[in-house]
Amino acid sequence: MNKRSVFKHNIIALCYDFDGTLSRHNMQEDTIFKEYGIRPLKFWKEVNLLAKREGYDKTLAYLNKLIYDPVFQKKPLTEARLLGMAHRIKYYPGVESFFPMINRFVEREAKRLGIKVKLEHYIISSGMKAILNGVSIKRYFHEIYACEYEYSKDGQPKCVKMAINETNKTQFLFRINKGYLRLDQDINSHMPEEKRRIPFQNIVYIGDGNSDVPCMAVTIKNGGHAIAVYPPERKAQKKHLGLLRAKRVDHIAPANFKKGSEFAGILELTLKTIIQNIQFNHSVYEQSRES
Ligand SMILES: [Mg+2]
Repeated sequence: MNKRSVFKHNIIALCYDFDGTLSRHNMQEDTIFKEYGIRPLKFWKEVNLLAKREGYDKTLAYLNKLIYDPVFQKKPLTEARLLGMAHRIKYYPGVESFFPMINRFVEREAKRLGIKVKLEHYIISSGMKAILNGVSIKRYFHEIYACEYEYSKDGQPKCVKMAINETNKTQFLFRINKGYLRLDQDINSHMPEEKRRIPFQNIVYIGDGNSDVPCMAVTIKNGGHAIAVYPPERKAQKKHLGLLRAKRVDHIAPANFKKGSEFAGILELTLKTIIQNIQFNHSVYEQSRES
């Protein structure tokens, strides 16, 4: 082994779904639908019909409707308009103070064990990147993956350039795992485990429902961790208990991100386990380097 090499597997990635995980509603409902007076149930019903009758992918169906429905042809969803609506998003309790809190927690734990650990946050969402670019918590994220339009010179959406649905969401976990964050980087080429930037054991996926199952399954199967959240004023629904029973997630918790909440406790326990594992792997690495 190269004596000058350094232990690199000390980065932890927290990967979040957005809608129903960090925010209470689908982001379009707090922003676009409010501004345009659109009834959410009617809109999503029409999206489902396009999928059922016309064979549309649901994500493409909603993204196309937001370009071609008469109301959007009249007043197009420009990038600036989407960005400007982001402040309307309603988060679950504690979300805005959660990131600095959990960053401090990891810093403290690593210091206590005398190791260096870096924590990175990622969003993987089927929502709209132009909205997420304007949210108050944007500065905490290392990367945000979400659906995108290409815009014409006058700012109108021309076509969909990136659509993220529940199954292709998993490719972004591999991007994070391999450190190939740019979309033009080929993630299908083989990379040995030790070369990967963030091993799956250091990845935690946090989501709220069925659309997160592929990501949860991929993370757990590769030795990572997953937590499912549900609205804090309700009890866990059947689907969440089902995720737990099927071992798609390690834990479920109400989506209350405040300090001292059940979710914070579960995530801190998960992070402690990962940090201890990093300490162990670091020690193994040091001994093999010296031998
Ligand atoms: Mg969701």
